[in-house]
Amino acid sequence: MSEHVALIEHLVAMHRPTTRCLDVLDSRDGTVFARVGDVAVDEVDQYVLRASRAMSEWGELTVHARANVLRAVGDFLEEHVEAIAPILTLENGKVLDHARWEVLNGAEIFRWMGEQARAVRGSVRHGAAPGQRVDVDRRPAGVVLAVTPWNFSLSLVARKVATGLAAGCAVVVKPSEITPLGALVIEHALLECGAPRDLCAVVPTSEPAELVERMLAHPDVPMLTFTGSTVVGRHLSELAARHLKIAHLELGGNAPFIVLDADAVDAAIDGLMFAKLLNSGQTCTAPNRVLVHESCADLFLDRLAGQVTRLRTGDGTDPRSDLGPLISGAAAERARARVREAEAQGARVVCRGVAADGGTDAFFEPVVLDGVEPGMAVYAEENFAPIFPVTTFSTVGECLELANRTRAGLAAYVYGSVPTESAAVVDRLDFGLVGHNDVRIVQPSVPFSGWKESGHGIELGELGLAEYTAVRSTVHRV
Ligand code: NAD
Repeated sequence: MSEHVALIEHLVAMHRPTTRCLDVLDSRDGTVFARVGDVAVDEVDQYVLRASRAMSEWGELTVHARANVLRAVGDFLEEHVEAIAPILTLENGKVLDHARWEVLNGAEIFRWMGEQARAVRGSVRHGAAPGQRVDVDRRPAGVVLAVTPWNFSLSLVARKVATGLAAGCAVVVKPSEITPLGALVIEHALLECGAPRDLCAVVPTSEPAELVERMLAHPDVPMLTFTGSTVVGRHLSELAARHLKIAHLELGGNAPFIVLDADAVDAAIDGLMFAKLLNSGQTCTAPNRVLVHESCADLFLDRLAGQVTRLRTGDGTDPRSDLGPLISGAAAERARARVREAEAQGARVVCRGVAADGGTDAFFEPVVLDGVEPGMAVYAEENFAPIFPVTTFSTVGECLELANRTRAGLAAYVYGSVPTESAAVVDRLDFGLVGHNDVRIVQPSVPFSGWKESGHGIELGELGLAEYTAVRSTVHRV
């Protein structure tokens, strides 16, 4: 039996048996390839109780022992990358290379947070009165509810679980019902590496709204960390406010990708191909609008077309595929409709990639569009597909006006060969995460924080770790 099939069987068996099951569909043909327990709303209290007990057990370990567990999880994920990556490909569709990237990114997050676990520290200071000493201590926030999307079913769970555990919390993960296996891999890895059972508990469910509402109302769940769409994030933010819970939100993006001059074109194309194609464009940090200075627009389009026409969409497990199917036929149809609408409004299709024969309706060939205007949906909305909408500008002021004209504020990219000019553009962008002549911006040590409607709260880095702690100040009279 191949390694990933054995691992899937183990994940399914490990998950607590319930009376109901959730089907996990094979992205290649829509057939059921795994069935996991479908957690019912009235089981929630038991999960929270067990997580609270596991958190106490975790708290009795030294920080060094906890750090070693997290580090071991990172090593475990890396060691088993070839067994885990096909599972992500099957449930999500992404090509194996992208699935491997995701597993290794998750591994790095666990290792980095393992190191940080040793360093969760407060401070000591003098009080206002003679003889007073003040300890400012950071305690675990408590049992955290993590709600995660389908596009990175393992690495987004890794962010929340590794950080929560490093801070001393327990984490209950409500994964996307489409892709529950990535989260179960994390739970499995933690158990294999000696973490207490239920410290990370995964609750796949066919009733996300009801289950999440019940958990937010639970008195022992003080914090929600959510990654997903802006519309669901807004709803959960309101719900959390009603129960006075901390809500940490990572929502949708609409990243501009700016190219300032001809000397930057080659590096920009390399960066764009990586950042846009990762997971077939279904990434919140994916460049969504390409803004190119008019002086280099022809050169840029020529080079981009040279790359995109060679791209092949196909079965994610086939090494000849550059891109896998989108998450569903409906997602591909939405993307096709956006392109048709942009064409009807005056945009021009410069080129398309190809799709392998015999694919599903979720196959979508990448496409480059020129002459895109800010009023078009393909520019204004998050596309979540490999569409490259190109718009030209003539001045830096116009470029900044175009880039910042969005309610999203997650990621942005700037490529330019004149450092003073590109740095000045970076400085005036209203986004929480900027790639300057580089697109590799998602790293465990780099704080990830959406501005405006892309969310609030910080993920990753020391600042992200602090979010999973509660501050306690003690004033001593000694
Ligand atoms: P989604 O909002 O539909 O679902 C996300 C999660 O919320 C899933 O687990 C889902 O089951 C749950 N959910 C859905 N409705 C709910 C409700 N009423 N109550 C409680 N839970 C509910 O998002 P998606 O389609 O899975 O993911 C795509 C979106 O995620 C995109 O907009 C993308 O930009 C965003 N995203 C953001 C980041 C980031 O870090 N900012 C990262 C990845 C994805």
